[in-house]
Formats: sequence, C-alpha cells, structure tokens
Amino acid sequence: MAALQEVVLAEPRGFCAGVDRAIEIVERALAKFGAPVYVRHEIVHNRHVVEDLRRRGAVFVETLEEVPTGAVLIFSAHGVSRAVQQQAAQRGLRVFDATCPLVTKVHVEVAKLRREGYEFFLIGHAGHPEVEGTMGQVDGGIHLIETLQDVARVQPAQTERLAVVTQTTLSVDDTAEILAALRQRFAALREPKQQDICYATQNRQDAVKLMARQVDVVVVVGSPSSSNTNRLRELAQRLGVPAYMVDDASELRDEWLAGAARVGVTAGASAPETLVQGVVQRLKALGASAVRRLEGPVETMRFPLPKGLKLAAEGAAGSA
Ligand code: SF4
Repeated sequence: MAALQEVVLAEPRGFCAGVDRAIEIVERALAKFGAPVYVRHEIVHNRHVVEDLRRRGAVFVETLEEVPTGAVLIFSAHGVSRAVQQQAAQRGLRVFDATCPLVTKVHVEVAKLRREGYEFFLIGHAGHPEVEGTMGQVDGGIHLIETLQDVARVQPAQTERLAVVTQTTLSVDDTAEILAALRQRFAALREPKQQDICYATQNRQDAVKLMARQVDVVVVVGSPSSSNTNRLRELAQRLGVPAYMVDDASELRDEWLAGAARVGVTAGASAPETLVQGVVQRLKALGASAVRRLEGPVETMRFPLPKGLKLAAEGAAGSA
C-alpha cells in the first residue's frame, strides 16, 4: 500500500473578491457602529466565517422581523429580492448591501429585459438564496431550470422574447449542457454577452480539472451549504478521483487517505486560507513530506465597498 508522500495545492482556491468584500463589510460595520450588527442569511456559506463574525457581534437572521427597528442590517453576498429590499426600507433599517457585484449584474439584466417584455429561464438550484434573490427581481416571468428534464418540460407563455441567466456558482460543464438544450428548443433564446458563472467559480473548477489528473484523492475545504464548493467535489469525483469535503482539518478521516500517495487540496470561494493550511499541516503530520503548488491564473479582481463604511482611522482620504 502506497504511503502518503505529497500534497498538491490547486491554484487558485479559496476566497474570491465577492467573499472578501462581504466579510469586510461586516467587519467595518462592527468597527464603525458597534455590536450588534444584523446580517440577513449567512454572509457567505462558510461555518467558520459565520462563527467568527458571530463571536464578534454579528447576529445572523433569516427574516427581517428578527431585526429591531433602526438597526444596522447587511444583505449577504448571495443577494436579496426586491421585496426584502422594500421591507428593509419600510422598517427604517440602515442597510449595507454585501451582494456580490457579479450577482447584482444578473439582477440588473433580469430587471432590464423584463421591462422589454422578456420571459426568463434561470439555470440554478431551487432554494439557494441567490436563486430566490434573482427570481425576486421581477413579478413572475422566470422559469427555474435545474435539469435537462426541466428544459423539456418548461412551457413559456410565448417564444419570441426569451432570455437565459444563470446562478453564478454552477458547474460550468452541466450548465453548458443545459444551455445547449435550451438553444435547441428555443431558437430565439437571448444569452448574456458574458456568461453569468463568475470568474472565481470558473477558475476553481479549471484548477480542479488540472489537479485531479495528478492525485489519488481530492480534499475540498468548505461548508456543505456552499454551492461552488459542492461543485468542486462533484467535479473531482466525475473525473474519477475520490473527493471529500471538510469544514476543517478535524473532519479529515484516515480511511479516505488509505493507499493514497498524492492528495490534492482545494477550497471553495468562501473558505479561509487558514483552514486550508490546517489541512496541509494535518497531511504533513500523517506523512506527506512535500507540498507542491500548481500553476494557475492570478486573480486581481477587487470590488469597491459600499458608501458609508469609512472608518475614522482612515481619515477623509479613505476609499470606503
Ligand atoms: Fe461573487 Fe463569484 Fe465570489 Fe459568488 S463566488 S461571491 S459570484 S465572485
């Protein structure tokens, strides 16, 4: 039986620009206004991030009824419906919107085309907060498509003005298949100029494709609620490599590593690098003597913060 020799790290992995920004918004709101700061839904889908912010005074809620009048409220990176935005305004809450700008781009597109009379197909997962937020940008006219079977079943009210948008964190390959089926069934389908699946999701899936060929087992760091993290694990499995998701090093099981010489490690877009390093340390303790970082695109994307979060220490010249 082969002994553990090498850890292979996917590049890029972990935090994306939207997650960085969302966490910074909560941290700045806590520093500026003091605890408690309310956050609608988990700010990003990672247990450790949420627990850390909760310890520092963030209160995570699912409905606005749980938020006292006049309190500071932050919308999570996944975005919210118009109804939630209106409810927050009516309640007099001081809102900071941590919706990822790449999700907002989809919201803007949906609202604009709906005004022009378009009906939509939204490729995504039922129940995911991003899907609820996007569907809630308009009053009807959006059909959720999860599978190829849904493409065959869907019945739009007309076939001249049809458009498609997607959740930002899907499997690139599955989505391409569903898009092809939609194109085949609806000739006039309007597609976004640039795909809605975000750069971070695409890059992390590309990195897993490169890594999976070189390892015996893949470990994906991230929480079960994270869509893009689940897609990374599924992708590795589809490429024929056993793959497991862990929130942190304590969840690694020895039996997963039995017979493995090389272990690939990656992380979803909401998983902090410290947790990845914890997994690497554990693998080293189990016998891995080398850590090899794969080549991958360097991500330089940064999103501006919303207004009103400049900290006193930053003075008048700060950018937030
Ligand atoms: Fe934005 Fe993509 Fe990150 Fe989601 S995964 S927060 S859409 S950059």
